[in-house]
Amino acid sequence: VVALACEKVCPYGAITGAEKTVINLAGMKETRTVAVVNEALCQGCGACTVACPAAAMDLKGFSNAEILAEVDALC
Ligand code: SF4
Repeated sequence: VVALACEKVCPYGAITGAEKTVINLAGMKETRTVAVVNEALCQGCGACTVACPAAAMDLKGFSNAEILAEVDALC
């Protein structure tokens, strides 16, 4: 699994990684690297949503299912 695959594919440099402390399923504190999108730089191309192996990215205003339905309609 490629960590922050979205950061690598974003053609506008809109994504950076940030450390965030979360409570995991076992109730323990854990530090994770999360993707942070700079909305001023984001052009809404959707490349990050396709690249994310965990399907953690959604294009603002669109679910992944809606994006895939649009792609199906176009193809
Ligand atoms: S949707 Fe925005 S953040 Fe995602 S790859 Fe495109 S420009 Fe970058």
